[in-house]
Amino acid sequence: MSEAVLLERVHARAPGKINVFFEVGPPGADGYHEVASAYQAVSAYEDVWATASDGFTVEVTGTVDVSGVPLDDGNLAVRAARLLAEHIGYDGGVHLRVHKGVPVAGGMGGGSADAAAALVACDALWGAGLSTHELQRLGARLGADVPFALLGGTAVGTGRGEQLSPALARGRFDWVLVISDEGLSTPEVYAELDEYRSGPGAHVPRAPARPAVFPPVLQALRQGDARMLGATAHNDLTDAALRRRPELDDIINLGLDEGALTGIVSGSGPTLAFLADDEQAALALQVTFSAAGHQTLHVHGPVPGAHLLTS
Ligand code: ATP
Repeated sequence: MSEAVLLERVHARAPGKINVFFEVGPPGADGYHEVASAYQAVSAYEDVWATASDGFTVEVTGTVDVSGVPLDDGNLAVRAARLLAEHIGYDGGVHLRVHKGVPVAGGMGGGSADAAAALVACDALWGAGLSTHELQRLGARLGADVPFALLGGTAVGTGRGEQLSPALARGRFDWVLVISDEGLSTPEVYAELDEYRSGPGAHVPRAPARPAVFPPVLQALRQGDARMLGATAHNDLTDAALRRRPELDDIINLGLDEGALTGIVSGSGPTLAFLADDEQAALALQVTFSAAGHQTLHVHGPVPGAHLLTS
């Protein structure tokens, strides 16, 4: 069998993420915010199959509701494939089949994971052989979370979240995700944060001038200490997301009452991430949430970033 036949179809997988710590600075002149993030890649995956084609097309299926995902050139996987083709001077196209396991518009970077998987798949399909560094640079042009979806594991992100330093992490962290039927727009959540931070009153939290990850968070990750991580995990966007979706507060309280070590909004939400002591505790939490009528997912982290699969 020739190499060309072997590379008619390539399968890549990339993980969704939870920001176990997320601090947001004031908006810059361009409207973007400087952030400090501790990312953990978790076992909710996006699968992308790339097949040689003349044009650029995409089809999307999933274990989550995929009705909000664009099927045109606005799809992040298509944008990634086009960007790579332009970068390497490739004049053919690709058909992408995307199978989503990460909730759409849930603050878990599903679209970014699609872009990362598409970059890795097309790089292999077209024999481009780009370095990890080059893929990361292309990824950063598509979105701040794409470089992390390529890297995976555990990392600290600064700038807009795209300037990454891998962080040490030991062991396994078990998370229960509570998924909302309807997504939240990331720009809207940031706008909400800016609005209430600029309001009057001594108790209104102000934006940190230089966002930074709280060192005990990194210590907890290094030591594989779920209890310490539970005590230190934090997301500046939680309050803003709760103002948009006050009903999420009751779900957070339910999780905490049932022994979750923390309950935070993932990224800009509305997915909620509850840290459990271990696998057993996560299963018990899932039972509680299911009984209350919520849709859940049990994931663990850290897991690897975008990679090829041989299926
Ligand atoms: P972000 O924090 O980057 O806004 P998110 O994790 O909250 O993202 P995503 O699932 O990545 O949410 O999708 C955000 C929006 O991006 C969707 O509402 C959708 O319109 C658009 N989008 C474009 N391409 C994709 C894709 N491949 N998968 C999901 N959404 C996509």
